[in-house]
Amino acid sequence: MDLGIKNKIALVQGASGGLGFAAATELAREGCQVAICSRDKKKIGQAAELIRSNTGAQVIGYPCDLNDPQSRSDLLESIRSDLGAIDILVANNGGPPSGDALSFSDEQWQAALNSNLVAMKDSAQAVLPGMIDKQWGRIIFITSVSVKQPIDTLILSNTARAGLTGFAKTLSSKVAPEGVTVNMVLPGIHETDRVKSLHAELADPSLIAKDIPMGRMGQPEELAAVIAFLASARASYITGQSVVVDGGMVKGLF
Ligand code: NAD
Repeated sequence: MDLGIKNKIALVQGASGGLGFAAATELAREGCQVAICSRDKKKIGQAAELIRSNTGAQVIGYPCDLNDPQSRSDLLESIRSDLGAIDILVANNGGPPSGDALSFSDEQWQAALNSNLVAMKDSAQAVLPGMIDKQWGRIIFITSVSVKQPIDTLILSNTARAGLTGFAKTLSSKVAPEGVTVNMVLPGIHETDRVKSLHAELADPSLIAKDIPMGRMGQPEELAAVIAFLASARASYITGQSVVVDGGMVKGLF
């Protein structure tokens, strides 16, 4: 299937590794011009070089702290001048810490809401005028299965991502007449550095997969393929949706 996004300008946030890196690689393979960002200049430069050499696409790595509004706006300014207005945004950020539901300080709550709600909401709002001008755009938020089935040890994630989902659903209706779609992908347990560190306390790593009907963790590429489809021209009639990619782990009907 030709996804119809050759030469589109894509920004994938939080992409020096993990799910963001896999999404950027998939979009580069589809012929997009890809901007990627993360905090560490050296790491994001190396990630861009790796994607370039694996795909032959134009890929630029930008250092950016997504939790800092000035850094986010500098990033968009640089991309605009290097590549042009963004057609595809994959909004992503580092996840909040795990712990007992009642153990978090006000500062930790503020930080989680800033990273996983405000920074991602603001990123979407900032790219929208360019998409509306072109009457074409794709916004995909990476959230979590915790939106469908909250995870007891991740109250910060459960709360921030539920809020972001409310924002995204409302936004999807608002911009639907402008040719812009807004969707969410909900990863289950995919093999990334974050998942390895969240599960480091398990004595037997095979226990990670015990509640997954497929009996294994997902690979980042298995989420990236869904992101690329939602970013594509072919996904033109899908908006406001939360798409679970979890090997069957969530038990709810919807
Ligand atoms: P990861 O920690 O492996 O990678 C996160 C990426 O974001 C890295 O490139 C990191 O450098 C970058 N990053 C972190 N904080 C940043 C900041 N302030 N500014 C710029 N870049 C920053 O995480 P991952 O497993 O790829 O997950 C990505 C997101 O999806 C996280 O929010 C995570 O909680 C969520 N998620 C992941 C899974 C999974 O199975 N991996 C499941 C559910 C939800």
